[in-house]
Amino acid sequence: MSHICPQCAAEMKREESRTEVVKHKGDSLTVTGLAGWFCTACEEAIFDDESALRYGAAGDTLIAKSRERQQAEIRRIRKKLGLTQIEAGQLVGVGKIAFSRYERGESQAPGPLVKLLRLVDQHPELIAEVRVA
Ligand SMILES: [Zn+2]
Repeated sequence: MSHICPQCAAEMKREESRTEVVKHKGDSLTVTGLAGWFCTACEEAIFDDESALRYGAAGDTLIAKSRERQQAEIRRIRKKLGLTQIEAGQLVGVGKIAFSRYERGESQAPGPLVKLLRLVDQHPELIAEVRVA
């Protein structure tokens, strides 16, 4: 039995113990002993159930890690600027509940908000202008 790659239609070959590196936002995890079908031409793979679970879990771990890092970064910037969560929420245009949720990791801060905080982190003198706007 042979498999055809769903991505590029090349032939896939069976492997029982493959090592894959899962990457996410600068972090990576190596997952070994993966079984399934692997494309001979591109990066596509169709894992067996158990391997798919382990590969997926590695991805989840990396996502959680990057979220924790973002939470810590948001909190660090807010404290450095001497703002309460209420003030920080007003600064970036969200309510205090939303800002608190970002810091606790209950929801993911929108990308533009994180970029704004980083900008103010690098240039604290801009804070007065951001406040007016
Ligand atoms: Zn392929």
